[in-house]
Amino acid sequence: MSHAQALLQKTFGYDAFRHPQAEVISELGAGRDAFVLMPTGGGKSLCYQIPALLREGTGIVVSPLIALMQDQVDALQQLGIKAAYLNSSLTIAQAREVEQQLLNAELDLLYIAPERLLNATMLSLLDRCQIALFAIDEAHCVSQWGHDFRPEYQRLRMLHQRFPAIPRIALTATADQRTRDEIISQLQLDDAQVFINSFDRPNIHYAISEGNNPKQRLWQFLHNHHPSDAGIVYCLSRNKVEATAEWLSQQGRIALPYHAGLPQQVRQTNQQRFLREEGVIIVATIAFGMGIDKPDVRFVAHLSLPKSIEAYYQETGRAGRDGEPANAWMAYGLQDVLTLRQFVQNSSADEVHKRVEHSKLESMLGLCELIACRRQALLAYFDEALDKPCGACDNCTTPPEKWDASVAAQKILSTIYRTEQRFGVNYIIDILLAKSDPRIEQNKHDQLSTFGIGKELSVAEWRTIFRQLIALGFIHSDAERHGALRLTEKCRPVLRGEQVLELRKQTKEDRLASDKPKKSPVRPQDQPLWEALRALRSQLANDSGVPPYVIFHDVTLQEMVKKRPLSTADMRYISGVGDQKIKRYGELFTAEIAKHPLNELLNNRLSATVNETLMLYKDGLDVDQIAAQRDTKSNTVYGHLADAIEAGLLDVREVLALDDDQYQAIVLTIESLEDESKGRIKPIYEALEEAYDYGIIKCVQASL
Ligand SMILES: [Zn+2]
Repeated sequence: MSHAQALLQKTFGYDAFRHPQAEVISELGAGRDAFVLMPTGGGKSLCYQIPALLREGTGIVVSPLIALMQDQVDALQQLGIKAAYLNSSLTIAQAREVEQQLLNAELDLLYIAPERLLNATMLSLLDRCQIALFAIDEAHCVSQWGHDFRPEYQRLRMLHQRFPAIPRIALTATADQRTRDEIISQLQLDDAQVFINSFDRPNIHYAISEGNNPKQRLWQFLHNHHPSDAGIVYCLSRNKVEATAEWLSQQGRIALPYHAGLPQQVRQTNQQRFLREEGVIIVATIAFGMGIDKPDVRFVAHLSLPKSIEAYYQETGRAGRDGEPANAWMAYGLQDVLTLRQFVQNSSADEVHKRVEHSKLESMLGLCELIACRRQALLAYFDEALDKPCGACDNCTTPPEKWDASVAAQKILSTIYRTEQRFGVNYIIDILLAKSDPRIEQNKHDQLSTFGIGKELSVAEWRTIFRQLIALGFIHSDAERHGALRLTEKCRPVLRGEQVLELRKQTKEDRLASDKPKKSPVRPQDQPLWEALRALRSQLANDSGVPPYVIFHDVTLQEMVKKRPLSTADMRYISGVGDQKIKRYGELFTAEIAKHPLNELLNNRLSATVNETLMLYKDGLDVDQIAAQRDTKSNTVYGHLADAIEAGLLDVREVLALDDDQYQAIVLTIESLEDESKGRIKPIYEALEEAYDYGIIKCVQASL
């Protein structure tokens, strides 16, 4: 293991392995197979990269994500690893060159698309090379039940037959029990050690909000929590993608569309911009994002309902891969439920598949209408138990109000029954609200006993109840009969009044990770250096045509800002900085850090707001000026200065401009009232006959 540990530190710049990387690496190192289930951001790729470097020969990485291979290879080359890729984007001459390198044993890692790997020429080429291992990434593509099925993946089982001595590792970030079993049997991994990491992503805050005007609520969400962050917005249809991207652009954000209907060139450019520029929003159908490596995606927003919990988990999992806080936000309404239900019914799949799709959608809808902790439910879906509610999803932070909807539900159900289950949502609502409508009159439904019995609720409120009744399986909306509603077995006890039906009350506002406007990831006094380092990184990334995070992750830059290494030797202690990175960038970054020395006054552990005051004080502003600039009271500013005085950073006499007599008078009063005042300012203030502000007294007190 010591070899692996040394590689981790010197090449990749990390101190310790994350669970279960070390075990996986030693398994492959010993020539055995492994199957790894690890959530996005868990450090999957190290599980095959390190053993590929440790073992003789080239590690062959099979991946369906052609568009990302170049970035993956760039990132490895930055670390000094000999990597290349083979896919349809290369010219014949380029491909030849890579093949020659492979034959000459000049490659540590080769990324390759499955169809390329499986062609006869390639296989016979591999016969003539030394292979370290086969890594099959995105292994869930092998599963017919999964959402990314690729037939060529099933043919990968031949690797085992043709190269029985070479260890194989299959990896995926998402797979329920059924998919797991299928991967193992399809790829003949029966002897593989299975590693399942927790699927929990504690840094992701989950929120699912129901109701009207999703676009406006999306804007509110972006405005409050992600005014300049990169993120992904998922929509179901191409039209909605285009419209949403355009709308966000009009609001002043950089928002780019991505869907299968766009020309390849446009898709590629938009994806590149998302990866390489900062603060870009991609608006996409689910065609976007598989394998996206960008670590600093700060939010994933769904404007449409995903088709399954797996899809939801995988898509939201693209947020916060760097471990920093991120939001998974979703807005959905009645129409989404109806559309998706129809989608499944109209799908061309056979009956068995349809039933699977249907039950997956049921689970997803259940998650949406859930009243308890979302994370618990999400993990339970992957057979993982979370003992306590997470405290960091919308249902935990603002528990939804419940209400007894039994009577309202009975009104709906009996109206559907009395109209012979032939009509859709709008018609039933019209009856409940006694709307005059020729169709209703013609059908004599204005004579029903339920006509007009629902006037206590608005149209929007009725739609909310319909949504929940459909989502929870009380009513079935029939696509073949134009959305006519049908009662299911489940609604009998409700109709008979034997079951109390509790539903979510529509919430007025969403609360997310924090209600305060987002804070900067660094202290105010570190802001200039933070920006300078980011600019340097952008420029270097630009020069070498790679995304900024390939140079250094945000988290690594944040650590540099905090520790301010001034030599390449000190740089070694920053997480994410290995030998190659030091060689390439060490001096550039230490030089930039040297240009931003931290003022002694600001080298402290005091709070951000105190430091903001201290920065202005250092620039020569007086208390009133600081108060004006910060839009706060002068007393508050004195409080901040008192903190700095107490920490020994400031001299009270300089701060207050008091003469000796004044200062002594205050000190004496404080001391004489020590027992009586018990730290309170008011008695001292009164004893000094209100001659000095509270803030001044506070500062003197802090100096004692
Ligand atoms: Zn929770």
